[in-house]
Amino acid sequence: PAPGVIAPRPAVAALPSYAAGKPPKAAEGLTPFKLSSNENPLGPVPAAAEAAAAVQSLHRYPNPAGEALRTELAGHFEVPYEDIVTGTGSLGALTQIISTFAGTGEDGTADEVIYAWRSFEAYPIVVRTAGAKDVPVPVTAEGRHDLEAMLAVITERTRVILLCTPNNPTGPALTHTEVTEFLTKVPGEVVVVVDEAYLEFVRSPDPVDGLALYRQFPNVAVLRTFSKAHGLAGLRVGYSIAQQSITQHLRKTAVPFGVSAVAEAAAVASLRHLDQVHARVEELVGERQKVTQALAEAGWRIPETQANFVWLPLGTESLDFAQAAGVQALAVRPFAGEGVRVSIGEPEANDRFIALCRTYSGPAG
Ligand code: PMP
Repeated sequence: PAPGVIAPRPAVAALPSYAAGKPPKAAEGLTPFKLSSNENPLGPVPAAAEAAAAVQSLHRYPNPAGEALRTELAGHFEVPYEDIVTGTGSLGALTQIISTFAGTGEDGTADEVIYAWRSFEAYPIVVRTAGAKDVPVPVTAEGRHDLEAMLAVITERTRVILLCTPNNPTGPALTHTEVTEFLTKVPGEVVVVVDEAYLEFVRSPDPVDGLALYRQFPNVAVLRTFSKAHGLAGLRVGYSIAQQSITQHLRKTAVPFGVSAVAEAAAVASLRHLDQVHARVEELVGERQKVTQALAEAGWRIPETQANFVWLPLGTESLDFAQAAGVQALAVRPFAGEGVRVSIGEPEANDRFIALCRTYSGPAG
């Protein structure tokens, strides 16, 4: 057939492609570092890698209900087993929530999903693929959610609201007090997703306690992942926690066997070695402190970050900065016209990034 004959749905044709963080390019005499995907440079705890490698029966499907991981999580958080739904990364868990609650209504008009913007790049893709309409609400100049503005755009078509705390890519976290107040103003039939992908890195006062929110509000779904603090991004495993009024529906839209046996085994082992996970997180938080302090001393004004990355609001210079980083064999994540997100990496990578920020004086030429 001629090109263009096999047309995707209009909503898909109009979608931007997900632009994943790129690997670094080699440069003379420099170890390349990838600071473009908010990965954990320290990797998983050894027990998790060993558990993954020890999985037998690779010819068998995994447990369809994710029983071992859900049992471990239920015990760890003291929540009912039925309140936990696993997914292919937290992105898989989010996709289940969106496709369960938002799409094209029976009258042909779209349900609405509200989120802050800029936030996680996958949100518009997941929402629009489901046939729903995304309602992005600009973050403040400090990169924070504008919760008042988000409340103001709720309509009778709103089905889901996404809160990302800490916010990727800008960095700030919400407070428990402000989210609780927000939830008291959201209609009970609207699902509020609290995406806590970077939860473990938060060191601010009054941190969001997603589990307390889910216990208090039946319309809250907490989203968590093993990709960041646990260093298991390559295995793709995450989960949501919500009351059964929500979770009973989620399992229907999940891709069957979406969590592999290898991923499940590693996640369970990682949960059993949390002291080591926390030690790694502490190391990264220390590196974050080093980076933010050095940038402040060098005169950079950046949003307060509570995650494993920093946001440089460089506007039109974003691509130039990313190119300058590339020359130093550092892969970072530019968002054209807006800013550059740089993950906290190995100490040597962070030192090189700091040195670049000290000397960077705008676009070359
Ligand atoms: N939520 C946020 C805010 C993220 O930044 C990411 C990953 N970049 C995810 C969810 C998805 O992570 P994963 O699917 O690896 O769990």
